[in-house]
Amino acid sequence: MLKFYRMETLLGGMKNILFPSLCFCCNEYVPQQLPLCSRCRDRLRPVGFSKIPSRTIRRHLSAGSPSPDNLSLFSAFEYTPQIKELIHHFKYTAHHRYLSTYISRLLEETLITHALDVSRYDALIPVPMHASKLREREFNHAALVAEALANDRRVLCVPELLSVKRPYPLQAHLSAQERLHNPLNRFALNPACASAYSGKAFILYDDVFTTGSTALSCINELLKLQPAKILILTFAKASLHG
Ligand SMILES: [Zn+2]
Repeated sequence: MLKFYRMETLLGGMKNILFPSLCFCCNEYVPQQLPLCSRCRDRLRPVGFSKIPSRTIRRHLSAGSPSPDNLSLFSAFEYTPQIKELIHHFKYTAHHRYLSTYISRLLEETLITHALDVSRYDALIPVPMHASKLREREFNHAALVAEALANDRRVLCVPELLSVKRPYPLQAHLSAQERLHNPLNRFALNPACASAYSGKAFILYDDVFTTGSTALSCINELLKLQPAKILILTFAKASLHG
C-alpha cells in the first residue's frame, strides 16, 4: 500500500512537471492546465509594430541604415510582470518545451491579429547563443520558440546562419548603460551557408527587445547579405527605464 502511495505521488509529481496546473505568475489553480490563469492572461498588453528609435539605429548599425520599410520591429506584448515570470520559467525551469509551444501560440495569435504573415519571409533566425552557454543551459530558448513558430507558419527556421563569436555576460546582470554596448560585434554569419541567403527576407527572433543592441548587432551581420527586408520579432518589448 505504501509502495502504491509512493508510486502515485511520484506519478503525480511527474504530471505536475509535465503539465503544471498552477499559474506561473500568481500560483492560482488553472483548470485548463495552461501556464497562465485567465486573469493573468487578460493582463498581457499587446504591442504590435513599433518604431526603432533612430538613435538606436545610429548607435548599433555600422553596415548602413536600411529604410523603415526594410527594417521593422514587431513585439507581441509589453514586458509586464506576467511576461517576466513566463520568460523566467521558460529559461530557468524544466518547463521549456511546454512553454516554447505556449509562447509560440501567443505570438501567433498576435501575428494573426495584425495580419502579419511570416510565411512571406524566407528565413526565421533565432538570436544565437554561445556554445559555452548552450552547454550550460542545454537549449537556446529563442531557437525553441522560433522552431515552434516555423512549424506552425511554414517559414524556414535557420538557427545556423548566425553564431556568437564570444560569450557575453547575461543582459539581466548588466545596467542599462552596459547593455547598450554589451553584445556589439559579437555575432558572425556562418560562411558555410550565408551565400544561400543573399538577398532574402529575414525574421530575427528574440524573446525581449530592450535597448535593441542584441538584435541590431545581429542585423549588422544580416545586412552583409543585402536582404530584401528584415523583421525583428520579439515576444516582449521592455522599456529601458522600466
Ligand atoms: Zn495567474
